[in-house]
Amino acid sequence: MTRAFLNYIDGEWVAASDGATTPDVNPANIGEVLGDFPLSGRADATRAVEAAAKAFPMWAKTPMPKRGDFLHRAAGLFEARADEIAEALTREEGKTLAESQGEAARGVSILRYFAGECMQPTGEVYPSASAGTFLYAERVPLGVVALITPWNFPVAIPAWKVAPALAYGNTVVFKPAELTPLTAWHLVDVLEKAGLPPGVLNLVIGRGGQAGQELVENSLVKAISFTGSNEVGSRIAAQATARGAKAQLAMGGKNPVVALADADVGKAVELTIAGAMLSTGQKCTATSRVIVQSEVANEFRERLAARAQTLKVGDGMEPDTYMGPLVSAEAEKSVLNYIEIGKAEGARLLTGGQKLRGGEYERGYFIAPTVFDRVTPDMRIAQEEIFGPVVSLIEARDFDEAVRLANHTRFGLSASVFTRDLNLALRFVREIEAGVVHVNSQTAGAEPQAPFGGFKNSSSGSREQGKAAREFFAQIKTVYLDPL
Ligand code: NAD
Repeated sequence: MTRAFLNYIDGEWVAASDGATTPDVNPANIGEVLGDFPLSGRADATRAVEAAAKAFPMWAKTPMPKRGDFLHRAAGLFEARADEIAEALTREEGKTLAESQGEAARGVSILRYFAGECMQPTGEVYPSASAGTFLYAERVPLGVVALITPWNFPVAIPAWKVAPALAYGNTVVFKPAELTPLTAWHLVDVLEKAGLPPGVLNLVIGRGGQAGQELVENSLVKAISFTGSNEVGSRIAAQATARGAKAQLAMGGKNPVVALADADVGKAVELTIAGAMLSTGQKCTATSRVIVQSEVANEFRERLAARAQTLKVGDGMEPDTYMGPLVSAEAEKSVLNYIEIGKAEGARLLTGGQKLRGGEYERGYFIAPTVFDRVTPDMRIAQEEIFGPVVSLIEARDFDEAVRLANHTRFGLSASVFTRDLNLALRFVREIEAGVVHVNSQTAGAEPQAPFGGFKNSSSGSREQGKAAREFFAQIKTVYLDPL
């Protein structure tokens, strides 16, 4: 029998108020259901917000090192079940087990990092112009915060929002993506088992348009941290800021690799493949455009297409799989549609471009790793986020043109350059409009202790992870303390 999972509200595991549920399906094998999860509506989100509001004064008063103890315990519990969590991640999202194991380990690091932050200074002391005045600024909590997350990193992203939100004294309502509730359940279950008091962390699983929308509109919610698409994010920000709530958005990308004439082509090709095809291209930092200097364009094109053809596509649970399925039927339809758009725009399909058929492929959402060339900068496939294993080659005459092309997008999340020339590498770092820059490494990849986020339409400007997280999850109180 399929296991029924529940929401977590005010310290209790509860069904959606109208009893509605939805199955969590394996995209590599759509006959496999991982569990039935609540399909919560507005009323459930409202209850969760009220529980969080009730718990806030107690949690805000809890000494920060004590809050850190909960996170520390949760990190240990999470680590103890990392294998189970990694398997759940592969089965519900589709990425390979190796990638899921990496993400589960990252979840542990994030919890440990913010447990450690709970022992760090929370403010600064300033010299005062008045003799005897003790002038200091300290970070204090915001109140109830809503965390709305996507399905593509369903362990890491919730962890890097939940952990700092709790560390800095906020109470939380967490609404994960509808497609990946099982990993969200694990995170919350572990924090419950770590002993978090009722109401401090609440889980509401449900549709964005209902449960999520309530979190955006509810006046008890003081801040919303969102990761997802630009379309949803910009609407959320407008509504949240109109009612005076703080909003943080992490959104899409159209990330370029730039391979200069002196690049190590073999390495650049391998890391372009990794950036474009791992996680089936469904990373916000996935490589989507490859801008190659003319001198190495032929060699790069041939090697990239040849390498893409060798990739083993299949169920992420199989140890030799390089690339799993797309996450859903809707995602598959959208990516195949972009491939048709690319062809109609006149790009040349070098390899891939089709749904994979036969055998295990009939059970899931598998498409072939796809490479286009003769892509021009204004084509839709060069401008819009495809979110699948599709990469576009664009040729550039020289460094200046390569950077101009790389910057020719409304996005600015990550970018990488391949070169042996330190001066060109440094110029690239200076001139590229991206929040995360890699030199001789792939566009994806971010360590949890460093700030992460994008320029331009890839974010609302704020950064997540590391110390940067506190700029969103806390507010500053400046105190002038004078003795009588
Ligand atoms: P999405 O925007 O469809 O959904 C994200 C979340 O928003 C989900 O939990 C969804 O239920 C919720 N939501 C939808 N409508 C809502 C509403 N009206 N009110 C409140 N919540 C609502 O995005 P997705 O398909 O889950 O994720 C893919 C996108 O996420 C891509 O664009 C990707 O680039 C982006 N992403 C960005 C980053 C980053 O750090 N910049 C990281 C990962 C993913």
